[in-house]
Order: sequence, then C-alpha cells, then structure tokens
Amino acid sequence: MEHVDLRIAELASSAFAASGSETGSLPAGATELAVTADRQERHAAIVEAVLAGNAIAIPFAKFNDGRGFSLARLLRSEHGFRGEIRATGHVIPDQALHLLRSGFDTAEISDADKLPHWQQALSSYSGNYQMAARNPLALRRQAALKQSAESRAADLGKQLAATGDLAERIHIIAKAVPGRLSFSTSLGKEDQAILHAIHEAGVEADIFTLDTHKHFKETLATLKRSEEHYGLKIRVITPNEDDLRELMARDGEDGFRTSVAGRKACCMIRKVLPLNRTLRGSAGWITGLRREQSAERAAVEFASWDASLGLFKVNPLSDWTEEQLEAYVSDNNVPVNPLHAEGYVSIGCEPCTRAIAPGEDPRAGRWWWENMDGKECGLHIGGERQLDKVA
Ligand code: SF4
Repeated sequence: MEHVDLRIAELASSAFAASGSETGSLPAGATELAVTADRQERHAAIVEAVLAGNAIAIPFAKFNDGRGFSLARLLRSEHGFRGEIRATGHVIPDQALHLLRSGFDTAEISDADKLPHWQQALSSYSGNYQMAARNPLALRRQAALKQSAESRAADLGKQLAATGDLAERIHIIAKAVPGRLSFSTSLGKEDQAILHAIHEAGVEADIFTLDTHKHFKETLATLKRSEEHYGLKIRVITPNEDDLRELMARDGEDGFRTSVAGRKACCMIRKVLPLNRTLRGSAGWITGLRREQSAERAAVEFASWDASLGLFKVNPLSDWTEEQLEAYVSDNNVPVNPLHAEGYVSIGCEPCTRAIAPGEDPRAGRWWWENMDGKECGLHIGGERQLDKVA
C-alpha cells in the first residue's frame, strides 16, 4: 500500500510528492472514522475520534460515495480539527484535488502503479485550488502568505523587538498582517494590557474570549467592565452544544478531574476546538504569551507562522517581565480581574485554577493535581502536536 501526501501540493504548483508507507497501514495510532447516515451516531463518532487525539482515517467504500468528503469538511469547519485526515479505500487520482479541498492531508492507495497518475493530478494544482474547508483565506492573500510567511514573521519579530511601546507594537502588527487580526483574550492581566494597547492604537481587531461555561464570576464581570471601559465589544465564543453533550455523556460533569485524558478532552471541547473554529479565516492572531510565564513558554517568539492555522501568531508581550506588566497596567489604569490581587496569577476555569503562594511557579495554580510538566491547555500548541499534547 502506498500513500500520497496531498499537503505537498499546497506548497507549490510544481512540487508534489508521493511516498510509500512502509506498512500500508494507517498512520500510527490513527482512528478510523466510518461514514454513517445517522446524524447522532455520526456526531458521537466524530467527537470520539477528535478526542482520541490521533490522525483520522476516513474510508471510502466506493469512489463515487461523496460522504467521506463531507465528513472531512465537517471535521475541519465544524469541529476545528487540525490533525491529519487520511482517505483510505476506493479513492482515485481524479479525486486528488477534491480531497485536498475537502481537508484531507493524505490518501492511501492500493495500486502503486497509480502513483504517477496521482502526481499528475496534483501537479495541476495551480493556486487556484483552495484547501477550502481548511483554509478559506482569500486567494490573493493566501498566495502572498505562502511566498515567504516565515521570513515575514521573522521581519515582524525584528520590528517588534525594536520598540518597547505596546501601542506602537500593535500598530506594527496591524500594518504587517494583511487581513483580519484576531485577539483572543482570557481577560487575564496580560490580555487586559493588550486590550488597552489595541484601544489606544485605534487598531481594528476581532476581539473574542472563549466562554467555557466554567469561568469565575469575577472573570465574567471583568469582561463587562472592560467593554464599558473601552466602549468596545468582546465576542463571547461558546463550545459546540452537541460536542459538549457528547463529552458529558462520555465523561460526566467532572471528568476533567478523574484523568489527564479527561482533562484534555474537556479543554479540547471547551477551548481548543472553539478557538480553531473562531480563528478560521484570520490572517493574524495576537496572544498575551510571555517567555517568563513558564519553562514551556521560555522560547516564545514575537511572531511566527502557524502553518496549520494559516496565520501569523503574534505575541507582543513575549519579552515583558512581570514588573513591566504591573507598571503598564497600573500607569494606564487598566481594569484587571480582582482575583489577581488574591494570588491568582494565571486565571482559567474556576474548578481548575487556584491561588498560588509568593515564589511559586506562575503556572502552579493550574491543574495542580497533575504533575508540573506541560501545563498547557492546548490553545498554544501547534497543529501537528495539538491533539497528542493538549496538556
Ligand atoms: S480548564 Fe478545566 S474546566 Fe476548563 S476546559 Fe480545561 S479541564 Fe475543562
């Protein structure tokens, strides 16, 4: 069995490749997602497959059965799945571009003699074809981003490093990022500083927050207060109700407490998938990550290209110290969550956040019943690794 890497066709019209898989089997640990007509059954299977955190294989029983394409589209657009999707079974070279546009990354083919036909089909990829379900950016913008996204991110990083003024950094980002600029706020101190700077800079951004239905009342009050203070709207993004129902049926209300896998599943449904859906179509994503926050964040760059989301991820506070942040917030009368004054440094969902003692690791107040390694909820983990390390 051979497999064709459809993703290569994303990179350049003339560059494509086909490579043999050693075993002909699914990618290691892949979950097979069968096509089913029953909507509820299908939804349950999708959620199960997404939560398994592996690559997903969709089998085609017949080459003219279009349901596999719809399933891949659903995974990308409705569920925000960013891992590998592989087509298996009866797929033919004529379907190569359709597979690509539907969100498939790879296709497994039984007849190695057909490899040249797949290559030929993919070679006609000219940039006029889009990964429609995966990356609905406008053609012109997508082509421009493809040209030199990484070097542009590096340039942007240099520009940001050249000034310490936060509002100026926001200006620089808005100028450098060609299209919708998204800012996801947790309403924590870092994000409140960025909100202030966005307001001061007069930059237009899609400002949103992920409401997990588990927030502290103080966090929700901070949201309202910030909207009033700055006279702007913060979009509130909630989890997909069907996904949530499936999670509750599977793990119960407190499943996040009983195992790391249960906690990852909860973060996946309540945070990661809604974030992925919301960022779709954005050209840039501003976050409040700082290098000082944890060992995991020590290498956070000012700007990078996130290939799986197809956008620039920008961290204008990456070099700021806690003292700089405190001074900025206080000098500018920035509204902050009152829980910070009670020892809550990193504030997430109420059942998963506690205050920390002076000198404790800033991330020690999150999921404290787990060990200290990799305390991330998955929001800031790259697409390739996202599903196997939502920690
Ligand atoms: S932080 Fe806790 S409650 Fe919130 S989504 Fe993650 S596991 Fe669930």
